[in-house]
Amino acid sequence: MSPAETLDLAEFLGDGISQELSTAIHFVAEQLPVAVRFHPVDLSLERRRSESETAYQEAEKAIRKYRVALKYPTTTECESPNKVMRERFDFTVIHRPVCTIPGVKTRFDGKVDLHIVRIAVGGTYEDAGRRIGTEAAVSVRVIERRPSFEAAKFAFELAQKLECGVVSASKYTIQRATDGLFEEVVEDVAKTYPHIPHQAELFDALLAKLVMNAEAYRVIVTPNEYGDFLSDAACGMIGSIGLGASASYSFDGDGIVNLAMFDPAGGTAPDIAGKGLCNPAAALWAFAMLLEHKGYRALGAALADAVRDTISSGQTTGDLGGSLGTMEFTEAVCQAMGARLTGSVKL
Ligand code: ATP
Repeated sequence: MSPAETLDLAEFLGDGISQELSTAIHFVAEQLPVAVRFHPVDLSLERRRSESETAYQEAEKAIRKYRVALKYPTTTECESPNKVMRERFDFTVIHRPVCTIPGVKTRFDGKVDLHIVRIAVGGTYEDAGRRIGTEAAVSVRVIERRPSFEAAKFAFELAQKLECGVVSASKYTIQRATDGLFEEVVEDVAKTYPHIPHQAELFDALLAKLVMNAEAYRVIVTPNEYGDFLSDAACGMIGSIGLGASASYSFDGDGIVNLAMFDPAGGTAPDIAGKGLCNPAAALWAFAMLLEHKGYRALGAALADAVRDTISSGQTTGDLGGSLGTMEFTEAVCQAMGARLTGSVKL
């Protein structure tokens, strides 16, 4: 996608620290050499309690108009806003980068630089199951061709950009019909990218190999629940489950991205909300992913690297042992970003 002069995006405001994260993002956006126009939609719990359908309709209208959205943490009371939006916007793929952050304490001394591409639907998560009498229960596990194709195509496109191979991971020797279908679809997509190495691995073996030799892996594509487990395991390896961003995508019939939503991994952090203490790093990384997706690749990379550099230089918020407030950290990120983009960033 080639970058436009003005970047229009839907902004889904949520609960807790959502407003502070939004303020930090707007501050960074003002430093960019592109005009960013935010189109906010209130998805706070208070609003959803009184007019949830109207709120979701507004969100749908905005994301369909601008094609991209930034979403902040929302409280789940009855419905999960993430689930509602996944269904309404037909998000079938989640992309979760997980990368070592120098300066963040970890038990693992290797380097992680992973892109987990996960089918966002199906697997065991579609069916909560049912009891059979008192001593047994059963659930249905679903693998579908279209989301498998979209995830595989996304993974190969990503690998092409990153100049690396793709590993697909599942339990295809046991779940022969379901994971077998997933691997068959990945294999078909792989044939259309003959220059990109592809290898299928058993998911349990992959977990062990990842811990022993994380550097060997870059892009991994996997069904829904495995992707969920893998994301948390990888985050544990880099020392934090709240310090990352993810993107959710829907596609047109040719596997080209139609809608994209970017959000920080963490929750609403009600205990520190409104105090100016929250760490905006994950939200800033989400914004960086959005910039890259919209074609502002240098800006997105500069912002992502600036967040990483700021943390590794020891300038951090309280959750990482530092003393900076949300906006002090954000200002430090802008300084680091400015140094990387001298002349092209308004500072
Ligand atoms: P939710 O129900 O939205 O998941 P929660 O408080 O149960 O909220 P988190 O929001 O993930 O779960 O918070 C867990 C802990 O991590 C809290 O102590 C919170 O303050 C902290 N935390 C979460 N996000 C951040 C952040 N961005 N910056 C600093 N601390 C955070």
